[in-house]
Amino acid sequence: MAIRKGDKIEIDTLVIGAGQAGVAMSEHLSNLGIPHLVLERNRIAEKWRTGRWDSLVANGPAWHDRFPGLEFEGHDPDAFVPKEQVADYFVAYAEKFNAPIHTGVEVKKVERNANRPGFTIETSEGLIEAHRIVSATGPFQTPVIPPIAPKNDNLTQIHSADYRNPGQLPEGGVLVVGAGSSGVQIADELQRSGKKVYLSVGAHDRPPRSYRNRDFCWWLGVLGEWDAEAMKPGKEHVTIAVTGAHGNNGTVDFRALAHQGVTLAGLTKSFNGNVVSFQSNLAENIANGDKNYLDLLDAADAYIERNDLDLPEEPKARNILPDPECMTNPISELNLAEEGITTIIWATGFSTDYSWLNVNAFDENGKPAHQRGVSTEPGVYFVGLPWLSRRGSSFIWGVWHDAKHIAGHIATQRKYLEYRDSSQR
Ligand SMILES: Cc1cc2nc3c(=O)[nH]c(=O)nc-3n(C[C@H](O)[C@H](O)[C@H](O)COP(=O)(O)OP(=O)(O)OC[C@H]3O[C@@H](n4cnc5c(N)ncnc54)[C@H](O)[C@@H]3O)c2cc1C
Repeated sequence: MAIRKGDKIEIDTLVIGAGQAGVAMSEHLSNLGIPHLVLERNRIAEKWRTGRWDSLVANGPAWHDRFPGLEFEGHDPDAFVPKEQVADYFVAYAEKFNAPIHTGVEVKKVERNANRPGFTIETSEGLIEAHRIVSATGPFQTPVIPPIAPKNDNLTQIHSADYRNPGQLPEGGVLVVGAGSSGVQIADELQRSGKKVYLSVGAHDRPPRSYRNRDFCWWLGVLGEWDAEAMKPGKEHVTIAVTGAHGNNGTVDFRALAHQGVTLAGLTKSFNGNVVSFQSNLAENIANGDKNYLDLLDAADAYIERNDLDLPEEPKARNILPDPECMTNPISELNLAEEGITTIIWATGFSTDYSWLNVNAFDENGKPAHQRGVSTEPGVYFVGLPWLSRRGSSFIWGVWHDAKHIAGHIATQRKYLEYRDSSQR
């Protein structure tokens, strides 16, 4: 069905967004025979195509970071697939079951109908009536730059979402704020391109890329960590630092980054003119990251022993490099002008924007209120959010299972509504 401007369309379920979450949703709705449409304002998996830096590869190996129904053709299962091909994968996946995705159509507003069931959806191409809607608009939508960002015309400041490659930046050094997966990868790439780089490091986990011949994705799977239903208390502000950029040997190691030439600093505290101040928590943050790394090695060893697995020992994984100068003698302040730093990259995460979704499905903080994606407003669902049902929820391998649950819920609701008592049959 084509959507033409001015059409008024009625559909059982409308899915908004055709990233991986929208594609997974459509597959499960199709399998259950639920009439639906998917609207995407750009192209399928647009974020993978144009929303990230040029050299990005998937953080997990090809055997892991995929949906159950399709492998990455032409890739070694242990390889890390470049982002463009991740986007191609989702396009191919959607074609496989002829997903009813309409691209280039933006949802502008969703309202619950008064005195009758369902929702009226205002789109860039006209109105749609749907019994249910599924928001698959992404876990990472609006780049967040913290309010401490200085107003300084001499500095180029961009969010990691707008970083593409070193050539895009002006001459001079770079301060990267945030050392999750985006920040460490960008800092590494910039340093290797010849730039002077400072990296402000907060609380993080840093699993080994691989240990005893198994990728960390495998370890988190068998150890049940991807299935954790809630963040461990105290871990709410802990980011995860991983990279696929250096293949199977790419454990994020802040000491190695420092020995390579990146200057590490603690969490960014404030700006005063050209001077940036850092908290004195670099050593503590690195130590906590080391503990997380070593704890995973311990858990992996215990798992191997308990299950009598024949996986080679890897004692060298426990060797920790000597502390670099920037750790033993950490900087508390930096004069950006004096150090020739011309750019700040804010790798400080994202928020979500639901200003278009005018329904009663949010908590007092404006966050989606839901249980495994089934929201407090009957007929409104969310899929793809971090921790929607478990740790894996916002990732490729996790969202597929959440989408299945939500499609099942929709099918059950439809069954109730189809029920007719004996007088009606
Ligand atoms: C830098 C980075 C690297 C990542 N690497 C990995 C990885 O290697 N492995 C992994 O499993 N996960 C990774 N992730 C996490 C996650 O897989 C991605 O964020 C993924 O893009 C999320 O998919 P999604 O479909 O939920 O959302 P998105 O990809 O954001 O898709 C949402 C879609 O909704 C559309 N949309 C939004 N609003 C509207 C509207 N009003 N009307 C119509 N359309 C709308 C958008 O255009 C978009 O295409 C990464 C995330 C980031 C930020």
